Amino acid sequence: MTQTYLPGSVIGVLGSGQLGRMFAIAARQMGYRVHALSPDNDTPAGQVADVEIQAPYEDLDSVAQFASRVDVITFEFENVPSKTTEVAERHAPVRPAGSVLNTTQNRIREKTFLRESGLPVTPFAPIRSEGEIRTAIETVGLPGVLKTASWGYDGKGQAKVDSEEQLREAWNSMERQEAVFEGWVDFESEISVVAGRGLRGEIACYDPILNLHRNHILDVSISPSGIPPKVAEEAAEIARTVVEKLEVIGVLCVEMFLKEDGSLLVNELAPRPHNSGHLTIDAHTTSQFEQQVRAVCGLPLGSTQQLRPAAMANLLGDLWNQAQPDWYRACSLCDLKLHLYGKREARPGRKMGHLTGLASTSERARALVLEARDLLNPRIRETP
Ligand code: AMP
Repeated sequence: MTQTYLPGSVIGVLGSGQLGRMFAIAARQMGYRVHALSPDNDTPAGQVADVEIQAPYEDLDSVAQFASRVDVITFEFENVPSKTTEVAERHAPVRPAGSVLNTTQNRIREKTFLRESGLPVTPFAPIRSEGEIRTAIETVGLPGVLKTASWGYDGKGQAKVDSEEQLREAWNSMERQEAVFEGWVDFESEISVVAGRGLRGEIACYDPILNLHRNHILDVSISPSGIPPKVAEEAAEIARTVVEKLEVIGVLCVEMFLKEDGSLLVNELAPRPHNSGHLTIDAHTTSQFEQQVRAVCGLPLGSTQQLRPAAMANLLGDLWNQAQPDWYRACSLCDLKLHLYGKREARPGRKMGHLTGLASTSERARALVLEARDLLNPRIRETP
């Protein structure tokens, strides 16, 4: 299907979190209508969509009805079941296609795809039965990380192991689910490349973004990343190969480890806008969400040029620990942008919003968002 959908058309979104919210804001800004489907109501995406539909992804009648009322469908939640996208595809094009989701929602399929595409990937071996444990260690070595093949994100369903015994224990405590065992990578830094691919195969990559994690959750992203230009080119080439080979129509993020010797290893793919790309909203000509709108609707892709150095800091539910964060003080800082996702309940580790700081260098932008986040935090404020 090669159809273009112009402003005024209706875009359906499967999923209703913050990614769907920022997508819906970009789509509505461009004159599209948005219908969001998810099992919840009063959701971050539903609050800004034209229509919010509450139904489980497995309710295929509701999915069919939703799909028949929109022109084109995308998703913001990558664990949408294959059956759901199959049913949706009968009524409207799903972009990226369900086949892309199928590859990326299982770490074994994803890593096998990367290896077969000749791309550098963390050494890995599948574990589906007891018998594969020893082979996995022989293939990958120790230490390593055991990750569930499906449903893992933000470090959930992961365990670092140093011995065969620990691997066995970790796999048992994951209830012997299908898993992947990866070699431990002593990386120097983590970067990501957000790439858009349009309906006619055109590709536009944002420059690599530097990512700092805390407790396996993205904490701060910085752009420009400061990595050597040759490495940046190689990272963009990897992202181009991924979106081309997967025939993505939409936006996809490639997360990579950068090793001390300058080599890159792909860690993970996300077939949608990514947390690290949130800074593109305030710092780039075209945000990653506008790019997703353009790509899925068949419009020409927008410029990925960065206008100002920027840094993004996530606001997790932990900040709400004792009191409402001090929005007033943080907003008093110049060149700082506040994004909140409209989630009613703040829980530890839950992504509630983010801050983007703009400055003359990315280091200054980083200092600015960290200062702003400290101002928000009542505990830090009270420390003399
Ligand atoms: P993931 O859910 O696979 O993106 O992992 C979350 C974070 O855990 C990554 O961003 C890394 O900081 C860390 N991590 C994951 N896999 C590895 C690995 N093989 N070696 C070292 N650190 C890892």
